[in-house]
Amino acid sequence: MGAPRETPMLLWVRRKRRAPAGAALDTVRFPPYTIGMGRRFLITGGAGFIGSHLAEQLLERGNTVVILDDLSTGRVENLRNLRDRAGVQIVRDSVENEATVGLLMSQCDAVFHLASAVGVQLIVDQPVRTIRTTIHGTEVVLEAANKFGRPVLITSSSEVYGKGARVPFSEEDDVVMGATRHTRWCYAYAKGIDEFLGLAYHKQFGLPVTIVRLFNTVGPRQVGMYGMVLPRFVSWALAGKPLQVYGDGNQTRCFCHVSDVAGAIIALQADTKHAGQVFNLGSDEEISIIALARRVIELCDSSSMIEAISYEKAYGQAFDDLARRVPKLDRIRAAIGFSPRYKLDEIILAVAKEGGVKTEDVR
Ligand code: UDP
Repeated sequence: MGAPRETPMLLWVRRKRRAPAGAALDTVRFPPYTIGMGRRFLITGGAGFIGSHLAEQLLERGNTVVILDDLSTGRVENLRNLRDRAGVQIVRDSVENEATVGLLMSQCDAVFHLASAVGVQLIVDQPVRTIRTTIHGTEVVLEAANKFGRPVLITSSSEVYGKGARVPFSEEDDVVMGATRHTRWCYAYAKGIDEFLGLAYHKQFGLPVTIVRLFNTVGPRQVGMYGMVLPRFVSWALAGKPLQVYGDGNQTRCFCHVSDVAGAIIALQADTKHAGQVFNLGSDEEISIIALARRVIELCDSSSMIEAISYEKAYGQAFDDLARRVPKLDRIRAAIGFSPRYKLDEIILAVAKEGGVKTEDVR
């Protein structure tokens, strides 16, 4: 009678050791660490607009960085300030290449996973690429991070709130997704899967994974060719061309300066106590797109007109836009004392000072 009773007991003990239920952070495998003490960070998508600012801030704090980017949307120009600096390694390859990601992961202390499809225009034009790189890239990064025990910060997107109409958006809100026939929502679904995956690795294996939902991030080096509104408006205003406002222009957004965003990402990754959580990150200064167009024209001292364009004409298909997008920032404020330093006017002036993006960058 003894043996049959012992077998299930042994199995239970073994299973419990392998995957503790609701695994808390394993402080032996993931000891607390401080950013700014000569750590080495892997940044996937590090040649992108946000990634390059993040790399610069990490270097300024005395760390070294490895930038992994396939340069599909990331740009060599973004790395101009970094290329010749000590402590920078740039690897041109896909985040979906398991061998490369495994090697780089083994050599770093933690990873910022930013590589992803970017911009509404690109998402609508290339949905297969969007879905594949967003989900598969994250799978590869999480698997390697778990193998080598490296903390991960994943940048998600405010798109995961879908068509939610109750603003401001709070991290615990239920979400309302658009119909799958509207291509734009493929990014939201894919980013949602990324969040599930990250939280699952945290829950099942105790891997420190922090999720950051980025709201509209803007600033120097952002290009307009993938759809982002501010660099497009500024470059049109500087060139005296009409600013194309989609729909009736009453839709609202909040714009946050990229250096505020990069600083907050670093602060969140600096402490594994934030792992297993989702944070909104952005500005909560709301403005309609038509008001943004007027403000850009004024600050650029431009004679440009405003031209109303239908969504169908803009995106070449029926388009489901979001009326308002505003983050609730209580959680990130409590966690790291975040509050955006730059006001919208300062941001517009900073983008204009850069001269706007090249006209050929705006489709
Ligand atoms: N938009 C616009 N003109 C443009 C590009 C965008 O009026 O040339 C609008 C777009 O329809 C959306 C808002 O500006 O309502 C913000 O667009 P963006 O692609 O920058 O960000 P997201 O839609 O992801 O918030």
